[in-house]
Amino acid sequence: MERLQKVIAQAGVASRRKAEQLITAGMVQVNGRTVTELGTKVSEKDEISVNGIPIDKELPVYFLFYKPVGVISSVTDDRERTTVVDFFKHVPQRIFPVGRLDYDTSGAILLTNDGELANRLMHPRFEIDKTYIARINPIPKAEQLKKLATGIELEDGMTAEAKVRLVASDSEKGTASVQITIHEGRNRQVRRMFSALHLHVRKLKRERYGFLSLTGLHPGDSRTLKPHEVKTLY
Ligand code: URA
Repeated sequence: MERLQKVIAQAGVASRRKAEQLITAGMVQVNGRTVTELGTKVSEKDEISVNGIPIDKELPVYFLFYKPVGVISSVTDDRERTTVVDFFKHVPQRIFPVGRLDYDTSGAILLTNDGELANRLMHPRFEIDKTYIARINPIPKAEQLKKLATGIELEDGMTAEAKVRLVASDSEKGTASVQITIHEGRNRQVRRMFSALHLHVRKLKRERYGFLSLTGLHPGDSRTLKPHEVKTLY
């Protein structure tokens, strides 16, 4: 016999703490009956459901999230800062972000409990395009934009080709907006690419992840992916 919250956590439905919250909120059923007692012991023969769904048949879920600045893209943070998963307290499944965005970068990030898809998308071979808009200073010269597009030597090697476009520039302020699409996913890659050319990134936002854009979303918003979108990602 095991404690109910442990069994739910082990099934990958939710963390132990979240499982406790699900139980006390009346969302957990054992053999069809709602159980709210945290210490409840269950055996392998018991049928456990969360929100009516048997825990061994947890459905995969997929969300596109507009990460605000100042949020960590991991499941937990040892410094207790807000994580992307904190925005999904209503979701019983144990979801996690696919890849990362820096604490100080905003924009599109996927969250799912589908480990297979996450692994595929994060694999370099998959080469999913990621489009960023960077507010930088000073205004870049044409040859700097060309270098960003053709490849820049970083300490972890040459960057692959990128699509680069000067979107706007403000000569009074000495700032510019540059759109850059890369398919690699190295740590702080976009910031390091600009920095290598002595261009300072003041703001960075991921506008698109593959074919998924932030249209209709505000920072902190999310939406579930449509079945055809999930299919396209696979
Ligand atoms: N490149 C960066 O520098 N930061 C991100 O968050 C993503 C890509």
